[in-house]
Amino acid sequence: MSRSHLSRRHVLARTAAAAGGLALAGTASGLGPVTSAIAAAAARPRIYTRAEWGARPPDFPAQIINKPDHLVVHHTASNNVTDLSLNQAFRLSRWIQDLHQLTNGWGDTGNQLTISRGGFIMEGRNRTLQAIDQGRNVLGAQTAGHNSHTLGIENEGIYVSARPTLWLWESLVETLAWLCDGYDLDPHQSIVGHRDYVATQCPGDVFYAMLPDLRDDVASLLGLRRGDRTARARRTARSTSATSVRSGLPGSAAPLDHGPALGPAEPLR
Ligand SMILES: [Zn+2]
Repeated sequence: MSRSHLSRRHVLARTAAAAGGLALAGTASGLGPVTSAIAAAAARPRIYTRAEWGARPPDFPAQIINKPDHLVVHHTASNNVTDLSLNQAFRLSRWIQDLHQLTNGWGDTGNQLTISRGGFIMEGRNRTLQAIDQGRNVLGAQTAGHNSHTLGIENEGIYVSARPTLWLWESLVETLAWLCDGYDLDPHQSIVGHRDYVATQCPGDVFYAMLPDLRDDVASLLGLRRGDRTARARRTARSTSATSVRSGLPGSAAPLDHGPALGPAEPLR
């Protein structure tokens, strides 16, 4: 996996150079190609908009709130499909919206961003990209009791015993690098799993155990130091003392697979 990440980074740097971004950044800052490559890596990845995946209009416009202090990794607890196509990614986004808007009654997709097993990244809740571009966030419904200060990324699949695909992993790393850069967040402090806040399997034992590697990969892409063990130790200590908040809302046959997304005291809009 590491070798592939390295090659992907080289591809990113090459792409930026070909587009002129690398030269521009390098010239303007007076810094070398390494810094410029990091700037390219923190650029917004290709994110498919709601119009592209065919979203239904929301029941109400999402509320724009302050920037998040934590980025929450979820799994969708849906099948580990072998269809890695863009069509499947769009189907996934529509399925999530149906579940959250029609079944759960949340007005729209609950999570801010979605990534398919094929590595396609999609906007979730309405106004998410607009908010992120402003350095802000939208109020979602993805981590019960913590929606006011977190941004949630739904990753297609169920990772109780399986690992996510390399395509999903690389897109998640790029997405988190972009967000950490834009929000000025430390990957080692800010990237958490749903279960760090509430009682849930999400994002699955296997994916959850990969979060330290995920933080390292994001930090590495941003040119930060690897393996900040102090931050990781703080994160672990905090996760073990996290309180459980249950939503009591319907919408999932096996709620612990994904976990509560909206707390009883949290507003829908
Ligand atoms: Zn979750």
